Amino acid sequence: MYTNKDLWDSVLNEMELSLSRANFTTWFKNTSIISSEGETIIISVPNGFAKEWLETKFNKKILESLRNQASDIRGVKYVIGSPSKLPKREIPIEIPDRISEERDEDINQTTSLNKRYVFDTFVVGSNNELACAAAQAVSQNPGKMYNPLFIYGGVGLGKTHLLQATGNYVHNENSKKRIKYLPSERLTAEIVEAIRDKTIENLKKRYVELDLLIVDDIQYIAGKEKTQDIFFATFNELYGRNKQIILSSDRPPKAIPALTERLRSRFEGGMIADIGMPDFETRLAIINLKTKEKGVEFPEEVLTFIASNIQKNIRELEGALNRIIAVAQIYNRVPELKEVKKLLNTYLSAPFRKTTPQIIIKTVADFYGIPQTDLVKRSRKKEIVRPRQICMYLLREESRSSFPEIGQKLGGRDHSTVIHAYEKINREEQEQESMKQELTMIRERIYQGFDNK
Ligand code: ADP
Ligand code: MG
Repeated sequence: MYTNKDLWDSVLNEMELSLSRANFTTWFKNTSIISSEGETIIISVPNGFAKEWLETKFNKKILESLRNQASDIRGVKYVIGSPSKLPKREIPIEIPDRISEERDEDINQTTSLNKRYVFDTFVVGSNNELACAAAQAVSQNPGKMYNPLFIYGGVGLGKTHLLQATGNYVHNENSKKRIKYLPSERLTAEIVEAIRDKTIENLKKRYVELDLLIVDDIQYIAGKEKTQDIFFATFNELYGRNKQIILSSDRPPKAIPALTERLRSRFEGGMIADIGMPDFETRLAIINLKTKEKGVEFPEEVLTFIASNIQKNIRELEGALNRIIAVAQIYNRVPELKEVKKLLNTYLSAPFRKTTPQIIIKTVADFYGIPQTDLVKRSRKKEIVRPRQICMYLLREESRSSFPEIGQKLGGRDHSTVIHAYEKINREEQEQESMKQELTMIRERIYQGFDNK
């Protein structure tokens, strides 16, 4: 004889298998059987929205699944229950965007720095070596080494961590130092508000009294002229007083559009360091550190699987690890590799996250109906030229291969040939609707191919 919980758990298990994780979580989170007397099962759902969806979209499946367990069930009714009273069945949660939510107690009210971000927990690899060394130099000698320090790199690669670690270091050395950390959107908001309230002079004064000003994601001041004006004045004042300024951006100063020339040249006047994508060793080291921090242990093969498959973004790497940790805690055991693979499926099959040069080459060849060997050999057939150029372009765009690597893969061509092809197709994609569509179709196939695996 089943208990209500067993019964519903088995339905949930079945549902989970047939739905995407997002769907499953959205519709089945906080549901439970509250009564199974008689022929009708009563299911508690958290809100009207879920009720409507379960009734209209999932009722048949739910009923089927229930009857597999107990054939005398005739119908299902959904009622909205108060979530707090519902028995909790934890479901592997959606991948959190951040490793752990920002907790208020971690934030220093005066500096706005998050205490969690320190150098000790920052893994140094070849991708961030220079940026990290520069940040450490600045933290030991603020205002004297590199001013400003400008760190740039892609999303989730550790810019904020490094900026805040610098601030925290300076703060811990000398708590009298006046430090302020803020994202550039906050800076803009403060300035807009000050203009409105006619308190701009106060605001400037507050800023120029700082010893260390850290502005994260400065690229967002692009096009905001008033903010740029005021920031420029503040910058000069601080700089003149040998006060340290640290900035981050998703791209180098010269690539920030609508940035006034004078600010750009200020940004370029100190030290510029980039953070690139971490290599496998660095990723593995990060995972090892995070598992240690959390006091969990996973088999080596699980760790290497995560490190080899999530490559482009450390935030995602942490998210993946968190998901595995959450599941391990819920089920109170270490997941096996095949379970890990399933759990991380959403990461791995998401488009643009994962493809390989082999898949790209094969897809392009199939798309144009030519043999792969013609693409990768030194064939000079005329009908191959364009597909090969497109293949070069996609290898660069989708798998981030380097130009020399691409040249090598496609018939030992010189990297200047590859660059030429890349630029040509890139231009065509921007200018010609037909090219755009052609590339879209190929890209769809590239990622479909992966999903089906
Ligand atoms: P960004 O600001 O570049 O988008 P973050 O600094 O927010 O990236 O980093 C994303 C997450 O990855 C953070 O939780 C951060 O602690 C972690 N992280 C990034 N780089 C490293 C590293 N080298 N060592 C340890 N953790 C890292
Ligand atoms: Mg950031």
